[in-house]
Amino acid sequence: MSSQPITLADILAARQSIDGMINRTPIVPSPSLSAISGNDVVLKMETMQPIGVFKLRGAANALANLTDDERRRGVVCYSTGNHGRGVASAARAHGVKAIICLSHLVPDVKVNAIKALGAEVRRIGNSQDDAEVEVDRLVREDGMINLPPFDHPHVIAGQGTIGLELFEDRPDLQNIVVPLSGGGLAAGIAIAAKAIRPSVRIIAISMDRGAAMAASLEAGKPVEVEEFHSLADSLGGGIGQSNHWTLELCRDLIDDIVLLSEHEIYRGMQHLYREDRIVAEGGGAVGPAALLAGKIRLEGPSAMIISGRNVDMDMFTSIINSQPVQLGDLTVAA
Ligand SMILES: *Cc1c(COP(=O)(O)O)cnc(C)c1O
Repeated sequence: MSSQPITLADILAARQSIDGMINRTPIVPSPSLSAISGNDVVLKMETMQPIGVFKLRGAANALANLTDDERRRGVVCYSTGNHGRGVASAARAHGVKAIICLSHLVPDVKVNAIKALGAEVRRIGNSQDDAEVEVDRLVREDGMINLPPFDHPHVIAGQGTIGLELFEDRPDLQNIVVPLSGGGLAAGIAIAAKAIRPSVRIIAISMDRGAAMAASLEAGKPVEVEEFHSLADSLGGGIGQSNHWTLELCRDLIDDIVLLSEHEIYRGMQHLYREDRIVAEGGGAVGPAALLAGKIRLEGPSAMIISGRNVDMDMFTSIINSQPVQLGDLTVAA
């Protein structure tokens, strides 16, 4: 690799840095998904973080590693919502000013939660790239510190602490099924998991409309994709034209990538609720959705990362009641 790799030692250090700021989440068995796959399937409940999503791990680690000068300058980020919530929460805990830049695709439920944490919110444009322009301006003109949502060593190491916890609870895991957007989550978990058990398979799941990492891996360089309204809104956005870390890490560490239709994600969310009584946002439900759709085959004990639960409740109740939901031009029906 051309850049200095992130190692298990960085992830162990991250665990120390974020101790007390995040929950050590449980894994729970899924009888229904175990029956479907014919193997033991457990769910890693990152929905049980204080902000309803794993992103607090990376954000807390990044905040903990700022210098005093950087803390005084304050932090800024662009986000599809959940990273912004993580940064807002960690910045408040550290007494650091935060500005969160969001496109108009970010659902209100996420925008309001960020404001409630005391961060300043700026709405710009219709894609993560538009929001990134404002971040660049705040860095250039106001000297603020950019905390990117995935392409940052401390963020990746923070997300990787999930991999440590998984193997402490289940040393026999053979597959880990991970939602994939910019790849910080998948890369972090994979670094930890493959250091502990080199034969473990990392299976990454994205939605089929706007899967930037899948397209970039295929092209061998960062690819810009059009962004759509998706049930998996937290998996949207590009990987950054100057991607430094996650593209190479995902190329080296992910074993399989699977893409899902909106209908398949809908079915996954509905199944998780009806069978396992779990509320998950679309991005958090893609692992179960991929299994239900028959798109992954699991041999041996497997963990699925249920990455977040920050879903609009009107949309969620429509889904669990088998009513259609509208995503921009697309109607998704049961
Ligand atoms: C951010 C996010 C992901 C994907 O994480 P990346 O590091 O960008 O790949 C998955 N699920 C949820 C709920 C998220 O918020």
